[in-house]
Amino acid sequence: MTNDEGSERPRKIVHIDMDAFYASVEQRDNPELRGMPVAVGYPAARGVVAAASYEARKFGVHSAMPSVTAKRKCPDLIFVRPRFDVYRAVSLQIRAIFAEYTPMIEPLSLDEAYLDVTENLKGMEIATEIAAEIRAKIKQVTGLNASAGISYNKFLAKMASDLNKPNGHAVITPKNGPAFVEQLPIKKFHGVGPATAEKMHRLGIGARTSRIRRSSFWSNISGSRDLISMGSPAASTIARLSRTGFGNPSAQKTRSPRTSTPTNRRARAFSR
Ligand SMILES: [Mg+2]
Repeated sequence: MTNDEGSERPRKIVHIDMDAFYASVEQRDNPELRGMPVAVGYPAARGVVAAASYEARKFGVHSAMPSVTAKRKCPDLIFVRPRFDVYRAVSLQIRAIFAEYTPMIEPLSLDEAYLDVTENLKGMEIATEIAAEIRAKIKQVTGLNASAGISYNKFLAKMASDLNKPNGHAVITPKNGPAFVEQLPIKKFHGVGPATAEKMHRLGIGARTSRIRRSSFWSNISGSRDLISMGSPAASTIARLSRTGFGNPSAQKTRSPRTSTPTNRRARAFSR
């Protein structure tokens, strides 16, 4: 795709996110928990849910919820004590799988990471195929499901991994990226919490006509000045996330012009 600053080949970013990670590990290791509403955490008065199984989420239980509230929403909720040593061990297993594909790995937590697979160790052209292979290997090695988002920057890759969760993947291409952002509620922006969302709404940011979304930034992956100049934490978060350099000098390389690619969900074209 072409942009204001000349031309730069879109990068290929994969965001991998394990599904209900701690809860899934507990269900994997204890068959009695499978199919049950599980909360990892302590049921004590001041306890908080660290992770909820999908069965528990159906009742509105989610992570960071006070255990007391969770129990009220789901009386049959089973609390399981966290085993961080096990979660860390699984995390190392999945990172070893990532490392088969790229050295450019940016972990966000034990169960989430961005991978820049633009130039990958397998010489694979199609990022969606890389994501599929990684998810299959994670399943094979750990017995756990992961979801993936594939896009041309980290922000959109992270958004995409949520679209077909659990155990799915989605692609946001350079062509459909701006339209995707256009319809995105402001509170969905990574880094925008309820307080910032409220502030942004007051400033008129978040309406469909919002400048933040119409900014040429969204069709120009390297042009983040516009957002930074707005000075909001969310804007700089978005700008930061959207620079996909991973600190690797090769990411800054100038590339030959690209024409835009089909919007097809399978988006084989994005993959080049
Ligand atoms: Mg996760």
